[in-house]
Amino acid sequence: MVVDVDQLDNSLVDIDVYTLTEYVSAKPLESNLEVLFTTTEHVSQQEEKPCAQLKCGENLKFPFARDSYSPVAVSILDDKELVSADAVTDTKRVVELTLDISALGDLHYDPGDTVAILPSNASKVVAQLLQRLDLTQQADSACHVRLAANCTKKSAKVPAHIPASTTPREIFTHCVALHSVPQKQFLSALASCTSDVRERAFLASLSSKQGAVHYQTLILERGLGLLDLLELCASCKPSLALLIEHLPRLLPRPYSISNSPLEGKQQLRIIYSIRARKPGVTTSMLEVKLKEQPARVFVYPRLQNAFHYTDLELPGNQILIAVGTGLAPFLGFLAHKELCQQQATGQTWLYVGAKTSQAMLKQQQLIAWQKSSVLQRLRMCYSRSSSDDEPKHVQELLEQDAEELVELLLLPKTILYVCADGAKISKSIDDCLRRCMQRVLHLDETEAVKRLKELRTQGKYREDVWL
Ligand SMILES: Cc1cc2nc3c(=O)[nH]c(=O)nc-3n(C[C@H](O)[C@H](O)[C@H](O)COP(=O)(O)OP(=O)(O)OC[C@H]3O[C@@H](n4cnc5c(N)ncnc54)[C@H](O)[C@@H]3O)c2cc1C
Repeated sequence: MVVDVDQLDNSLVDIDVYTLTEYVSAKPLESNLEVLFTTTEHVSQQEEKPCAQLKCGENLKFPFARDSYSPVAVSILDDKELVSADAVTDTKRVVELTLDISALGDLHYDPGDTVAILPSNASKVVAQLLQRLDLTQQADSACHVRLAANCTKKSAKVPAHIPASTTPREIFTHCVALHSVPQKQFLSALASCTSDVRERAFLASLSSKQGAVHYQTLILERGLGLLDLLELCASCKPSLALLIEHLPRLLPRPYSISNSPLEGKQQLRIIYSIRARKPGVTTSMLEVKLKEQPARVFVYPRLQNAFHYTDLELPGNQILIAVGTGLAPFLGFLAHKELCQQQATGQTWLYVGAKTSQAMLKQQQLIAWQKSSVLQRLRMCYSRSSSDDEPKHVQELLEQDAEELVELLLLPKTILYVCADGAKISKSIDDCLRRCMQRVLHLDETEAVKRLKELRTQGKYREDVWL
């Protein structure tokens, strides 16, 4: 039976069921940190604050940031709902944002490049956590984190993502990932600050080697995080220092640029999808930002990799394969090709799958691009289609076109791009391409795998895997 973990409610977890009678709890980390409230100074929450990670100085690197760029606040100029959420077909709401990037200076980018957005944790969640830690009164008091006086561990350090001077609210809002997967040592540390015997035994048992099956079920499969565990264990009261020690850094999330730089204007567009149940941290934050005035987010451009449109340097053909919001970067590719059509003379084929026709991003635009010969082939399919005659997945479309597809792919100037919002889908597309190669070129499985690997090495098969 497949259990929809998002449907499950924490109140349905009976902690006794997951508590062993015999176990040896994981050894908790020694506590190396302490938090010192420097003054009674109350840091005002009124004005717009920079993200606290920006106060950490040069020691804190932003992953994949382009040289000489650090995160800056940019305005959201416009937001457009491209797809509305639909519970019946399990379709996610999809939103297109237009960002004013003048604060990034003269940014050069290609379609397919990505920007990173700095997330923040929801204010309601942060407030609940502060309350649990009895820090509501001191939430906005200046503090600093230092090594504990009795710390003997030579390699101990204050995490680089905690600013020298900060507040508890800032730490929880901008610096630490509250929804990360709790490690066993963290569970054991949480057990040590839990007064209720049953709750303490539950956390300790979950941290133990003997409790591996329960850890797999509750933490890895069901996705219980710190906040769920606190809800289940009302007497668990960790200290701020303990949480800083165990929670990882709240990391920026990448988003693909979905427009062409040739559109001019100091603007770029990104497209995000948001889950109806258990929405993610960044996407939830973006939804809240849309209601703010002015609506601003912290953004930086990420280093370019092979996944970008190269037709102008190397006129050729592109095979684009996308599923769901994975179409976002290709909308940029196609807009770009349209704007430089005299130079871009190659073939562009797009294979794209969505749950339903309504969930297909910019369907009318795709059809218009086909009519104006920006796209030479457009194949769309819908996984929730009720018709048995129509292909439901891009893999089926690829198999149907296998002969021509492999022929085009093997031309020296063809690049195949795959973008899907999930590693499983990318793997399944890879398997499908392998089958196409096998069939058309009469190869056995090992030879076909080798050919695909060669195509990757030659830069002819490029992938963007999102989640
Ligand atoms: C190179 C690259 C480019 C990307 N480009 C885009 C893009 O253009 N548009 C885009 O929407 N995303 C894109 N992503 C994914 C994006 O970076 C985030 O991972 C995504 O928006 C969820 O972020 P979050 O902080 O809201 O979720 P988190 O808080 O990180 O969510 C935790 C987990 O919930 C699940 N989850 C949350 N939201 C979703 C969702 N909407 N769909 C499926 N599972 C979800 C995931 O399993 C995720 O690991 C890209 C990722 C990479 C690596």
